[in-house]
Amino acid sequence: MFEQKDNQKTPISSYGEFGLIDHLTKGFQIKQTTTVKGIGDDAAVLSFKGEVVVTTDLLVEGVHFDLRYMPLKHLGYKAVVVNVSDVYAMNATPSQITVSIAVSNRFPVEALEELYEGISTAAKVYDVDVVGGDTTSSTSGLLISITAIGTAAADTITYRDGACENDLLVVTGDLGAAYLGLQVLEREKQVFAVNPNSQPDLEPYSYLIERQLKPEARKDIPALLKELDVLPTSMIDISDGLSSELLHICKQSKVGCTVYEEKIPLDPQVITTCEEFNMDSTTIALNGGEDYELLFTVKTEDYPKIKGNPNMTIIGHIVKETEGIHLVTRANTKIPIIAKGWNSLTEDED
Ligand code: ADP
Ligand code: MG
Repeated sequence: MFEQKDNQKTPISSYGEFGLIDHLTKGFQIKQTTTVKGIGDDAAVLSFKGEVVVTTDLLVEGVHFDLRYMPLKHLGYKAVVVNVSDVYAMNATPSQITVSIAVSNRFPVEALEELYEGISTAAKVYDVDVVGGDTTSSTSGLLISITAIGTAAADTITYRDGACENDLLVVTGDLGAAYLGLQVLEREKQVFAVNPNSQPDLEPYSYLIERQLKPEARKDIPALLKELDVLPTSMIDISDGLSSELLHICKQSKVGCTVYEEKIPLDPQVITTCEEFNMDSTTIALNGGEDYELLFTVKTEDYPKIKGNPNMTIIGHIVKETEGIHLVTRANTKIPIIAKGWNSLTEDED
């Protein structure tokens, strides 16, 4: 579907390592006042007053992405998104990133230009300076590792361990779409392998595919929470699926929770596509990954401040640890939520 054009094949070796770094990073501008020195020295220099948050993600070809349907521009964008999402999950503001890549010489320079175009676009959208990185060769696939740095006021950082009994459980946006988008793309890949002339109509899945290929981090939520004067008692981003994030919050906060199936927010495309694929939409919302929405808990007295907000859905509440972690189904049965997630270290899932 996204074939490399034949006329774009400048070998990486024609630039040399330093030439390549210069070529790829020359467009980056420094905008943050906290950046003293960006790319070009042995290390970047940053200057902060308050707390600093740091987070890293490593994306590996064949494990986290498949270049047969993931255009490199989107991969670059997404690699930034997954990192800044972790910063927002701390109720913090990202300000710098570093970008490290390991790349095999089967990639032409044009492919890396595309990757950096995505990184650059995301850096603008999320308002971060690209201040460094590393570039090396790989004998197999492409690896991309991004580190994000951000700032937060010490008293407004939201950890995973702050949820208390009776707190309300809230999610932003809707869940399950990114996973279904991947299923649609996988299916098209197989159809394409059989019949390269097929022209799939992907319109009914447009939202799902966008959520998979061009996810956005919830930059708006820390700002919105501040505006609403709500400080979550705990927060996490939903990268591995709702169930696994619920378990993280509950385990670290030493609490249990009750989630109501009927409250889980789903896009209409998730519902229709689940019907078509004969999948259970709740299972997808609980166990699909990569939604990059935020899951947080708030005190019950904050209920009036968030009620009816179109960005937020209350899906349940926190209970005592001894009461466990449960889903109350539409049929009103209570079933335990177990970790399924989206763990690349397990064999049967990725
Ligand atoms: P060193 O040998 O000290 O690691 P490099 O030659 O690797 O230095 O890097 C030179 C400069 O370019 C440094 O500022 C480094 O952070 C930056 N840099 C290297 N690779 C990348 C990359 N892939 N993306 C962004 N900046 C990079
Ligand atoms: Mg280096």
